[in-house]
Amino acid sequence: MPRPYNFSAGPAMLPEAVLEQAKAEMLDWRGSGMSVMEMSHRGKEFVLIAEQAEADLRELLNVPTNYKTLFLQGGASSQFAMVPMNLLRGKSKADYFNTGQWSKKAIAEAKKFCQVNVAASSESVNFTTVPARNSWNCDPDAAYLHYTPNETINGVEMHTIPEASVPLAADFSSTLLSRPIDVSKFGVIYAGAQKNIGPAGLTIVIVREDLMGQTVAGTPTMLDYAAMAKDGSMYNTPPTYAWYIAGLVFQWLKAQGGLAAMGERNQAKAALLYKAIDESGFYKNPVDPAYRSWMNVPFTLPDEALDKPFLAEAKAAGLLTLSGHRSVGGMRASIYNAMPTEGVQALVDFMADFQKRRG
Ligand SMILES: *Cc1c(COP(=O)(O)O)cnc(C)c1O
Repeated sequence: MPRPYNFSAGPAMLPEAVLEQAKAEMLDWRGSGMSVMEMSHRGKEFVLIAEQAEADLRELLNVPTNYKTLFLQGGASSQFAMVPMNLLRGKSKADYFNTGQWSKKAIAEAKKFCQVNVAASSESVNFTTVPARNSWNCDPDAAYLHYTPNETINGVEMHTIPEASVPLAADFSSTLLSRPIDVSKFGVIYAGAQKNIGPAGLTIVIVREDLMGQTVAGTPTMLDYAAMAKDGSMYNTPPTYAWYIAGLVFQWLKAQGGLAAMGERNQAKAALLYKAIDESGFYKNPVDPAYRSWMNVPFTLPDEALDKPFLAEAKAAGLLTLSGHRSVGGMRASIYNAMPTEGVQALVDFMADFQKRRG
């Protein structure tokens, strides 16, 4: 029996090859006599695992040498506070784009530390698009501009990097590693691992060195990028097993041809699903086509009464976790790196069949 396809938004599907390797190495990592979970984070075995993962991440994203790559805990939600604590650098204001549920949360947290200028918002149109460039109202005195490249819940993705005169801070939780990006355009990039990188418990942060070391007074050591960087993300015990699995995912991505190849594959997967939705006359996606996410595809059926049978029949067909976010309703298919094209094709085929029977 093949494993079902899991469309969960996060924690999400991992590549099967990675799970198989983790299984093979579970009791004895490469003759060490230990599971990775049982190793000292300062022992030579784990240091090797950690260094390889970091080198592979930097290689995949082509991270410039003046950036640190950190492997932290606390999730993307902790970054909502760490970004202002580290990046305000004596300033009192920051710009934020409000393009979805995760932007809103980042803004609410930043308000504890500074004056937030919402430079662009799509809230009045239910977060179904991104405001046009000529309507942005950025503050030249802002310490940084924060935005969310991919809004996981709303299915809205900005496919280009906004131009800004201040450092960019970006919540890449659900899209990091889905395609190449120009890291040099950012002050800080962060991502909870459980969407597109690895297991929950690991948070990736990529931060430009000159922005570190000027935290707001009272910042705890654990929330200080400079302190974490100084100790190679090992000021305390890092999330070792999640770090190891992420490392296996990085190796898998390299074997797939790297991020350019993943980007092509992800764009094609998304196009396949949106085309099926748009041409059905039955399923609907509300997002402005210019900003549709390659990673998270929300869609509705013509009658809510069909939601339950759709989910039950999808599950029986080996298509799991398609229920939409509680705030949006309907369905959501998350099709991260680990979702093969065959999985999207299976979903598209199921949707057509369901429509034929129920439409
Ligand atoms: C899931 C998600 C978060 C929250 O991540 P945690 O690791 O659970 O804190 C924040 N931002 C985005 C864009 C997300 O997708």
